[in-house]
Amino acid sequence: MKKNKLALTFSSIAENVSIARMLIASIAAQLDLSLNDIEELKVVVSEAVSNAIIHGYQNDPNKLVILEIEYDTEALQISVRDQGCGIPDVEQAMQPAYSTDPERMGLGFVFMQSFMDELNVDSVVNQGTTITMVKDLNKNHASLH
Ligand code: ATP
Ligand code: MG
Repeated sequence: MKKNKLALTFSSIAENVSIARMLIASIAAQLDLSLNDIEELKVVVSEAVSNAIIHGYQNDPNKLVILEIEYDTEALQISVRDQGCGIPDVEQAMQPAYSTDPERMGLGFVFMQSFMDELNVDSVVNQGTTITMVKDLNKNHASLH
C-alpha cells in the first residue's frame, strides 16, 4: 500500500469532534484492525481534538484545529494541532488525573499514551500545541514474519 495522507482543518467547536471520529473510523476500517483497535483510535482522536478545543482555544469557535492522518501498511500517524494557549509544563500535564479544570478527570493523555505506541507532545506557551501519535500496524502479526 502506498502512503496515504489526509488533513482536515475545522472550527474549534464540539460538534467537530464527531466528524474527526468519523474520519479516523473510516480510515481504520480500511486497515486490518480489530473493532477494539478502531474504538481506541476513535477515543484518542476525540481526546486530542477535545483538548485542542477546550484547553488550547478555551472553546473559542473562531479558531481552527488541524487534524492530519498519514498511514501505510506499517503504521498510522495522527497529529492534532492548535495555535492556542500552549502547555506550560507538559510533563505535569501528562500525569494521570492531572487537570487544570477541577471538573475534568485528567485522563485524556492517559488514553493517548496507553492506546498508541508513540505519543509526542510539542507545545509552546501562547503559540500552541501539536500532539503526534503513532500506532504500529504490524505489532499483532510480528510472529508471522
Ligand atoms: P479529560 O481529558 O479527562 O476530560 P483533561 O482534558 O483535563 O481531562 P488531559 O486530556 O489528560 O486531561 O489533559 C491534561 C491537561 O493538559 C489539561 O487539563 C490541560 O491543562 C492541558 N492540555 C491538554 N491539551 C492541551 C492543549 N491542546 N492546549 C493547552 N493545554 C492542554
Ligand atoms: Mg482532555
